[in-house]
Amino acid sequence: MDKNESIGCSINNCKFHAQAENYCTLDQIMVGTHEENPTEKECTDCDSFEYKAK
Ligand code: SF4
Repeated sequence: MDKNESIGCSINNCKFHAQAENYCTLDQIMVGTHEENPTEKECTDCDSFEYKAK
């Protein structure tokens, strides 16, 4: 899969991670939150994440 140099990512447990380098391979991602009123970066999520089974 080709990396998308516009989306850096270090989550190599995700099936869309480029693995060899810290990029996502999707054309776009959706960032979301699990909070009612997000106030810190820990409140944000990559909603495009899918677990890569080992
Ligand atoms: S979908 Fe999200 S978590 Fe997965 S590689 Fe792309 S940016 Fe990272």
